[in-house]
Amino acid sequence: MNERIYMSSPDIGQLEEDAVVAAMRSGWIAPLGPDVDAFERELATRVGVAHGVALASGTAALHLGLLALDVKPGDVVVTSTLTFAATTNAIIYTGAEPYFVDADPSTGNMDPDLLRAALSSLRDTSRKVGAILPVDLLGKAVDYTSILAIANEFGVPVLADAAESLGATHDGKAAGSFGEASIVSFNGNKVMTTSGGGMLLTDDIEIAQRVRYLATQARQPVVHYEHTDIGYNYRMSNLLAALGRAQLARLDEMIARRREVRESYKALFADVPGVQIFGAANDQNDNVWLTSILVDEATAGWKPQDLVSALAADNIESRPLWKPMHRQPVFAGYGGLINGASENLFSRGLTLPSGSALNNEQRERVRSAIVAFLDRV
Ligand SMILES: *Cc1c(COP(=O)(O)O)cnc(C)c1O
Repeated sequence: MNERIYMSSPDIGQLEEDAVVAAMRSGWIAPLGPDVDAFERELATRVGVAHGVALASGTAALHLGLLALDVKPGDVVVTSTLTFAATTNAIIYTGAEPYFVDADPSTGNMDPDLLRAALSSLRDTSRKVGAILPVDLLGKAVDYTSILAIANEFGVPVLADAAESLGATHDGKAAGSFGEASIVSFNGNKVMTTSGGGMLLTDDIEIAQRVRYLATQARQPVVHYEHTDIGYNYRMSNLLAALGRAQLARLDEMIARRREVRESYKALFADVPGVQIFGAANDQNDNVWLTSILVDEATAGWKPQDLVSALAADNIESRPLWKPMHRQPVFAGYGGLINGASENLFSRGLTLPSGSALNNEQRERVRSAIVAFLDRV
């Protein structure tokens, strides 16, 4: 069997290895240390915000971001249905309830018109909307111009889930800089990785301080560790921050590599009937984290699952888009404004190997497997 090709595997080399070894030899192993401070400064500067708080995961950043916005049990958090479960899980951790809003079919991101309708109908209930939590799907920033204007009109704070979009921009501003706070993820499959980790980014020093405090077991600054709040153990270790700094230095190079992969898929599928590259019409400001195709079965004469099977036979990973949250058994029963756009994308979408670590030989294997499949169907 051929060596397995993954959708998005870590892109790690000598620079990263040297950084982690240097951090170990410095004696700053855990928990915090100078690489954490430097990583927070460097990423906040890159994104253009005043504060970064490095955390154990993007999910932890979502959880504490919601708490810092004062989201309480019984509140409603309006969020995207087309996302990874971590977004919704973090809402549930706070005791609040998710309210799912459907997607703009051309981007998969939260549809601003549906957000407005959702906030209008929730205003007529006794429920408090604690926050809006939009998601930058697959590395394309949300239409923040519209979303933030609506949030402002209804007086609801925004926590932006930029887990997938580090390096992307909207209207000249970096993903990770929008809303009261944003979060990014350094999970192993994201554009850059710390093996596992995340960061909360904000211009608001009170939010940053609150998140820092909650992430370190909510210790009051006295020697005997006085506690007046429930805390969490969510900080990033110094070794992982060293890895993150090396990855951040290569972020643009890695995104450029992903863009090459995106462009080669565009060329490959250009003349294939019934297939389009998802979100490609307007992708110049995206970080092109993952490349997905949308298949119109009636025109193409084949289903996404047929290509999944063909690629799997050659040990190449591919996967559907995120299954919408309102369709997940664990989240059934929560409210939302659903018009079918996400389900349509879910049924037609297929994500292909997109990582910056793919070498030329692996890219050629994927290409020839797809060409062979298209010749057969
Ligand atoms: C990856 C991801 C997360 C979670 O990040 P972790 O670092 O894996 O906890 C949250 N939201 C979205 C949309 C993601 O893709």
